[in-house]
Amino acid sequence: MKYIVVTGGVMSGLGKGITTASIGRNLKNKGYRVTAIKIDPYINIDAGTMSPYQHGEVYVLKDGGEVDLDLGNYERFLDTELTHDHNITTGKFYNSVISKERRGEYLGKTVQIIPHVTNEIKDWIRDVASDSGADICLIEVGGTIGDIESMPFLEALRQMHREEPEENTIFVHVTLVPLDAQGEQKTKPTQHSTRDMRELGLTPNVVVARCEEPLLESTISKISLFSDVPEEAVISANDVEDIYEVPLMLEKEGLTNYLMKMLDLKKITEDTSWN
Ligand code: ADP
Repeated sequence: MKYIVVTGGVMSGLGKGITTASIGRNLKNKGYRVTAIKIDPYINIDAGTMSPYQHGEVYVLKDGGEVDLDLGNYERFLDTELTHDHNITTGKFYNSVISKERRGEYLGKTVQIIPHVTNEIKDWIRDVASDSGADICLIEVGGTIGDIESMPFLEALRQMHREEPEENTIFVHVTLVPLDAQGEQKTKPTQHSTRDMRELGLTPNVVVARCEEPLLESTISKISLFSDVPEEAVISANDVEDIYEVPLMLEKEGLTNYLMKMLDLKKITEDTSWN
């Protein structure tokens, strides 16, 4: 199983969900079976009880699962059907770990976030990925790097990266390149958020930089230097009129081929992408 972990920096609402769904679509076009998991680091068990004013509409799956809107993007972009197990929340893990503790399954041990909650997260991800019969599992981590809430998930993913063969996991970091008053592309927020990732023991392999306009060569070089990723792995993701253009933009930027190279995937069918 290959895992592509998508994290976000600087602020929420950047387009992590659309980026995840688009990466999945492009890999599906190359002939791979792709599935996706959304991690929501809140204590609610699911989105069913959350106010639409705060959270946006609740997306309801075929199995009745009441989940985050991003699962709707995954289903539409990947032309697939997901189950409620594809939306993981902190609440689900705490619920499961506390029930196990009450049943005495930890045999008197002190139950802790590391390793008990992190083991539960890793087992859940691996089970959902393998039950779906996919070759590649995308994992989108909700929230922003540095949030206290997402720490156990990032730690579990760090451990998974260690435990799996090197070429099986790749980290894609979606970040913002704002324009200053003179219209100059600013890389400082990206530098900070990739440094925050490194503090957690995670190294981004790809930086997808969201900007109002296409990134300049000089901006790409600067992000590459400070984030320690090759220039070909700095992907310019400018604002587009229609979100269905995002897969095409990422394909043109060479992201799919780069991911295939890094994950040691061979092209298995001719590209059938939307052209
Ligand atoms: P996140 O998962 O980071 O919270 P979403 O994927 O839900 O963000 O996207 C937030 C909003 O930004 C959505 O309305 C989405 O349609 C829009 N969006 C994402 N990528 C782009 C883009 N490249 N151009 C224009 N709008 C985008």
